[in-house]
Amino acid sequence: MTQHPSTHGPSETPGNEATPRRSIAIVGAGIVGASAALALKRAGFDVTLYSERTREELRDAVPATGTAILFGDSRSHDARIEGDRYGADAAFATSAVTVNGGPTFDAPYDYEAQSVDVRLRADDRIGLFLDEGGSFAHRRVDDAELDRIAGENDVTFVATGKGGLAERFPVDAERSPYSEPQRYLLTVTVRPADGGDVRFPGRTENERSALLSIDAEEGEVFVGPYLHKDAGPAWVLLGFARFGSESEKAYREARDSASALDIFRAQHHRLFPDVAPQIDALEVIDSDEYSWLKGAVTPTVRRPVARTDSGGLLVSLGDTAIAVDPIAGQGAQLGAIQVAALADALREQPGEWDEELFTRLFDTHWERHGKPSVEATSLFLGDPKYAEVVGSFFGRAAENPAAGTALFDLLSVPGPVLGLRGEEDVVRFVRTFEGRRTAVPAASPQVTASTHV
Ligand SMILES: Cc1cc2nc3c(=O)[nH]c(=O)nc-3n(C[C@H](O)[C@H](O)[C@H](O)COP(=O)(O)OP(=O)(O)OC[C@H]3O[C@@H](n4cnc5c(N)ncnc54)[C@H](O)[C@@H]3O)c2cc1C
Repeated sequence: MTQHPSTHGPSETPGNEATPRRSIAIVGAGIVGASAALALKRAGFDVTLYSERTREELRDAVPATGTAILFGDSRSHDARIEGDRYGADAAFATSAVTVNGGPTFDAPYDYEAQSVDVRLRADDRIGLFLDEGGSFAHRRVDDAELDRIAGENDVTFVATGKGGLAERFPVDAERSPYSEPQRYLLTVTVRPADGGDVRFPGRTENERSALLSIDAEEGEVFVGPYLHKDAGPAWVLLGFARFGSESEKAYREARDSASALDIFRAQHHRLFPDVAPQIDALEVIDSDEYSWLKGAVTPTVRRPVARTDSGGLLVSLGDTAIAVDPIAGQGAQLGAIQVAALADALREQPGEWDEELFTRLFDTHWERHGKPSVEATSLFLGDPKYAEVVGSFFGRAAENPAAGTALFDLLSVPGPVLGLRGEEDVVRFVRTFEGRRTAVPAASPQVTASTHV
């Protein structure tokens, strides 16, 4: 598996015979590092991907970093990195929502969301990267090694997720929305015990719907379709517990996938009994002991560029650059958008690769995508500054499906959130969705995991 980084050899940038091919290092082979490696290799550069785990370990010996659903618009950005291999198998196009056990409403999306095991998507991309001549170096990169790598490459991207080397990049306090985690998280991937599809007649007549169940005191639970790397079509349970709640206490007790599922079952009987029978009928995926995760995310935006001790250029990518609470599913989407734009920009950038260029690229990414995603996340977290906005959406959604469609469109295209300050803004925004055709909910999946691996 381990291949060694290329050195500056005789290779040359296509179309410019006088210029040696530029070399790029990427540290961290999660979904963002793997995507960047493939996209930048295809853009014509020498790329080495450094990973503290082997390719096999990345796929089979770690939990997925997150659910990483791509809600609509980000799918077209992601498809510029690599065409869609998963199609309708992992797609869904509606959420059935309940608030405090009260009225429920269906929110038909204006797009199809896609929920693919991030380990599968990353592994597919690493495979293509290697097939197309990329180098994979298996080693944990420490500060000294980072200094050496940065000295040997034109630029070094750091895509090591939320911790560790991320600390090389100072926190941008102005852009960071919170300084503490906002929810305690528990997630587990499961499948129906009888192998069939899952319907929620207590909540919705829709054939293939995700659920968003909200309890104002305790937090939120998302239940939705998921393409598991081995088991194929599956479901994910994803809980967001408010600190100090019974749910938080329960989530902290999870110690494996079976106990995580039991905790969700008990929580549904207590808070969301209309769908408890269906949650009871789910079972864990025995072949994957890493199919669950618990913890909390401190939402953090970092400065995009840093220097090693010897002055090597470091640029942050993915969760290293912007880490958001997952409640609005923005993290992996932002990573895909950032990588696709970066590959386009560098392909067309014959000039200096310097701090100024990468700061400008990130500032553009922040204004167009990062800031709206951070704000949409605050809205879905029920931040007090969005209280009137959230109340207006929920107040209308039971009567007017366009309100649900508009609300969930913010997961796909969060930009309009910046103009939502009160009731009138919501009314205007919802009106733009009235009479629109929404996406048709995906048909039940017919394929097995072997199609994908
Ligand atoms: C519960 C949950 C649900 C989520 N749901 C969604 C969603 O629905 N939609 C969405 O868009 N996003 C979602 N997210 C966010 C999404 O999962 C992340 O944004 C994304 O997976 C981050 O990918 P990454 O590659 O930046 O980081 P990571 O996946 O953390 O990858 C970092 C990699 O770097 C490696 N590494 C670390 N340090 C070193 C080192 N020193 N040397 C070498 N390698 C190193 C690690 O081993 C790891 O492989 C969710 C997150 C959570 C927690």
